[in-house]
Amino acid sequence: MKVLKFGGTSLASPERIKLVAKTVQKHLKEDKTLVVFSAFGGVTNDLLEMADLASREDLAYKDILIKNEKRHLEAVRELIPVNAQSSILSKVKTELNRLETLYEGVYLLNELSNKTRHVVAGFGEVLSSLIIAEYFKNLGVNSQYIDSRELIVCKNTNEKVQVNYAQTNANIEKYFEAKDASLYIAPGFVSRNEQGVPSTLGRGGSDFTAALYGAALDVKEVLIYTDVNGMYTANPQIVPHAYPLKDISYQEAMELSHFGAKVLYPPTLQPLLDKQINILIKNTFKPDETGTLISKSSEKNFRWVTGITHIDSIKLLNIEGSGMVGIPGFSKRFFEVLFQENINVVLITQASSEHSICIAVKDDEAELAKEALDEAFEVEIQYKKIKPVEIEENVAIVALVGDRMKSHHGLSGKMFSALGNNNINIRAIAQGSSERNISAVISKKDVKKALNTLHEQFFEVPSKELNLFITGVGNVGSKLLNQLKKQEKFLLEKLRLKVRVHGLSNSRKMLFDENGIDLENWEKALEKGEKADKAEFFKKVDEFNLRNSIFVDNTASPDISAWYKEYLANSVSVVTCNKIACADSFENYQELQNLAREYGASFLYETNVGAGLPIIDTLKNLVASGDRVTKIQAVLSGSLNFVFNTYKAEDPFYKTVEMAMKEGYTEPDPKIDLSGVDVARKILILARESGYEMELEDIESEDFLSKESLATTNNEDFFELLKKDEPKFQEIYRSAEEKGEQLKYVAQLEDGKAVVGLQSVDSQHPFYNLSGSDNIVLFFTERYPEQPLIVKGAGAGAEVTASGIFADVIRIGKK
Ligand code: ADP
Ligand code: ASP
Ligand code: MG
Repeated sequence: MKVLKFGGTSLASPERIKLVAKTVQKHLKEDKTLVVFSAFGGVTNDLLEMADLASREDLAYKDILIKNEKRHLEAVRELIPVNAQSSILSKVKTELNRLETLYEGVYLLNELSNKTRHVVAGFGEVLSSLIIAEYFKNLGVNSQYIDSRELIVCKNTNEKVQVNYAQTNANIEKYFEAKDASLYIAPGFVSRNEQGVPSTLGRGGSDFTAALYGAALDVKEVLIYTDVNGMYTANPQIVPHAYPLKDISYQEAMELSHFGAKVLYPPTLQPLLDKQINILIKNTFKPDETGTLISKSSEKNFRWVTGITHIDSIKLLNIEGSGMVGIPGFSKRFFEVLFQENINVVLITQASSEHSICIAVKDDEAELAKEALDEAFEVEIQYKKIKPVEIEENVAIVALVGDRMKSHHGLSGKMFSALGNNNINIRAIAQGSSERNISAVISKKDVKKALNTLHEQFFEVPSKELNLFITGVGNVGSKLLNQLKKQEKFLLEKLRLKVRVHGLSNSRKMLFDENGIDLENWEKALEKGEKADKAEFFKKVDEFNLRNSIFVDNTASPDISAWYKEYLANSVSVVTCNKIACADSFENYQELQNLAREYGASFLYETNVGAGLPIIDTLKNLVASGDRVTKIQAVLSGSLNFVFNTYKAEDPFYKTVEMAMKEGYTEPDPKIDLSGVDVARKILILARESGYEMELEDIESEDFLSKESLATTNNEDFFELLKKDEPKFQEIYRSAEEKGEQLKYVAQLEDGKAVVGLQSVDSQHPFYNLSGSDNIVLFFTERYPEQPLIVKGAGAGAEVTASGIFADVIRIGKK
């Protein structure tokens, strides 16, 4: 005999049932087969919801009933030929009428007992199995329907199901003595109690039904068919990189299922363990995949950690106070109260000071547990020796599970530091006494991030995911996206970095994709995106809650840089070419640095000075290694350099500026460059990085533009005044030319004083030969007193700026 079980996910539609029938027939060719069926997908939830609604006198239950009635009758019509439908239709209708009467009773009495919940919950399995049995009959299979409620007997009718094995086994053996069908079809999940009242085996209990039949019939193996390829290293719906485990031990499977791997109902293994009956979990829709074999040992596959699971339907209870310290028997009383109330404690931790005990219990048992404990310790609470029990909601447990974890040191350290590095706050920690699991209680909102982080840490080729949210997709932003696309493979293979863009925005539109935006077609997709909104953008980043999230700012907008604090305070790193934040007040600059430090995020802005040139990074390294900057001399404006390299006094100055503007070497408002404000901001940032508390006003500026032109508010007026001032520019140019010198706009920092202004430099000076839009920085330090450390190269342009941003992203990846 073979025993198979098909879950509700495999029975969601008549088409799926037809597929299931094909698999069953394959097995039938080899041996007699007993198949256990769950309710059609979603039906049990509906049955219980209807009961709740009816008990609250809410007539909405009727709509759900009608929907379910339709669903089952349609299944009959789809699966069974018209001329053979009448008997099954009447059976189905009889069951549905019974159900309706039960709900009416609940509705009228306004009362829903545990017993009634169990009775109604089981109808889904009875209905599905009756219909499928009839379907097989009509396919010409010699089949027999078994009412599991008559064979499987439970000792009680509550959530902690206890099977009366002696009676159940005897019933099953006896039933099969006299039967000779090829196929037996039985509803899963349903049973009766010792008084003969229908009960169930608990949510997800159809797996258990199959195990009970398998054990009683002494089969070699029980096959569980579901919607995934077996038991995975983590829930595949939440962790995309999870993979199925080929074979695992009973203990590992038990631990995984107890700690949330829903694919197998935890009690399922009980009846199979003693007889060493194997379980094979397979995918109904991909029957050729190997699946997971659960057996006595899993010696073949060596691993420290088998899987990662979570339970999100829990609450934490915390009891604390000096009255607990050193008082023998406190814990005993504490746990006795819980035992008496039949409350299942999922996790326990006790502070070594004995000052507090923290337990995790199921959601729906938390209130009861609090009431019982507060009552039991009423006197201690009254005398303020302990505080009333506190309940903490919205928490979940994540657990690392593995047979061999006990013999390997450092796993918990690795687990907690991986969580910590991703800013996942750990509320409580416990290690099972079997040492087969290490659990951490975390906030519910962090579950997905935690599972993926741990999976990456323990199961994947060591690589790091970087999750980007980019604002500004103009010149620089679009180049950056190109570079990311082009380097994708290299980053993964050589640097083990998986870089994905999950959010994009320009000033009009924004676009998000949790699986990563296709970098080939982002432009079209963004056009179709939602209306851009900075607050919404931040909200989305926060909701995605992905590990190693990075906000990239490719704009020059103060409205965007105003958001950096929010990002950093939520552990999202910030990479920016926008100078506004770093050149704002020192207080603001410092706060950003502090937030980054406090929340484990990075704040990088290499492109604020010299585009892609490694200027800030070099300076940071000098300072970090203990060097002291004595002087910085630099040409930091690609735009000004271009202007003064091009201006030869043959064409007027304003024409040269126009040309620079056209070539994209200046800001849209060229005055920002020509006034020297941009250079002042840059030297300010370098001064701050060198350790000086400086403000923009502290930087002396020697203007070469007239006051009037600096006061203009639009480009037209500005150019008019440039035209007017031409003789002055001619004079500046001539006086330099006469001395054989070159005009350079120089920024200098010395002894904590910074100056920017136009200078003419002679042919011996390192700045003399600086061409095009190049930048140069000379660092004079204690270690480089005479011969400065020089960084030189293209200091403007979208491509190099994008590559500087790219380099910052990689810096975060390497951290
Ligand atoms: P069925 O209806 O077949 O009984 P379930 O929904 O009860 O199916 O169980 C299958 C589901 O269990 C999968 O779709 C998956 O979402 C979930 N699951 C949770 N953890 C795991 C895991 N470690 N491996 C496989 N599936 C898991
Ligand atoms: N139908 C039941 C449930 O949803 C049992 C099962 O599917 O295993 O809990
Ligand atoms: Mg299930």
